[in-house]
Amino acid sequence: MQDYYELLGVSKSASPEDIKSAYRKLALKYHPDRNKEEGASEKFASINNAYAALSDPEKRAHYDRFGSEPSSQGMPGTGDMGGADPFDLFEQLFGGNRRGGGNPNAKPRGEDLQVEAEISLEQAREGAEIELEVDRLVGCTHCNGSRSEPGGKPAVRCTSCNGAGRVQYQQRTILGNFVTEQACPTCKGEGQLLVEPCTKCKGRGRTLSSDKVSVKLPKGIDEGYRIRVSGQGNTGPGGVGDLYVHINLKKHPSLTREEHDLHYTAKIGIAQAILGGSLEVPSLDGPKPIEIRSGTQHGDTLRLRGQGMPRLQASGTGDLIVTFKVDVPNAKNLSKEARDYLEGYAKVMGENTSSSHQPGFFERLGKVIKGE
Ligand SMILES: [Zn+2]
Ligand SMILES: [Zn+2]
Repeated sequence: MQDYYELLGVSKSASPEDIKSAYRKLALKYHPDRNKEEGASEKFASINNAYAALSDPEKRAHYDRFGSEPSSQGMPGTGDMGGADPFDLFEQLFGGNRRGGGNPNAKPRGEDLQVEAEISLEQAREGAEIELEVDRLVGCTHCNGSRSEPGGKPAVRCTSCNGAGRVQYQQRTILGNFVTEQACPTCKGEGQLLVEPCTKCKGRGRTLSSDKVSVKLPKGIDEGYRIRVSGQGNTGPGGVGDLYVHINLKKHPSLTREEHDLHYTAKIGIAQAILGGSLEVPSLDGPKPIEIRSGTQHGDTLRLRGQGMPRLQASGTGDLIVTFKVDVPNAKNLSKEARDYLEGYAKVMGENTSSSHQPGFFERLGKVIKGE
């Protein structure tokens, strides 16, 4: 088994936040919803196993001491998150829908639905409320879910199961007789048979409906998270399923995001780098004036505190980090005037330049050798 730290690409002394950040990046890359390449889901499962162990302080301490998880059992890499997918951080309750308590005879709940939502950086920052159009199955209003045409002949009780919906089978084995129970094949577990099916839902009890669902985004939400909205999935006989909203972040025209920080690359000229100056950089609140310090080097950064994204489920805000890129032009693209100035500068500074206006380096070297 591969080392958990190696799997996540972090050192043994990594902080919980580093581990979480590394995990998130990898999980995003290999999430089976996004990565259809062969081996991606196995990789995703191993990353999850590693994270599950290293994100728990007790398990991590154990792993550090023994190189294994405490009483690890079962199959590694099954990809089963045990309902604890760290991307499912949010739950929004609509109505009083509750998950069934494990009663096998309980009527099935409606199916869960998955939708994708593309949001902007601005919406993620403010925790906007977005509206989604969701196609889902709802109880038929014509028959009220009874599946029979109102006023028509009512459904009759299934005679195979006597209305129970389930039938028992006896099995004789050398160990004794066993009774197994199954859904009734005649009525498919319904306990009744339709005589005059509802004309609107064709006896299905549900119709397709396109509904608008509002979802409040948590401030600072990022690519790859999903929000569970309870009770906004399909309607079933035993309740309504949930709606899972997968978050995709739209590309911002000039800013890139890395966790809670935003990045901007500012191109500056060599004169600005040397002399200093001012510049406007884009931020989520509109353009912000910044100062270019005299002597700014290529790759230097400037941090605008609190101009980044809110930390998800935590307090504080990230920064906007401006990285300066000194744009060095090719002499061919300079005007004669600009070239003259530069050559004058080079002369004063004693910088040896190759130029058509001055004798070249080797030419001058020749003169020195000749003793001129
Ligand atoms: Zn109907
Ligand atoms: Zn039956």
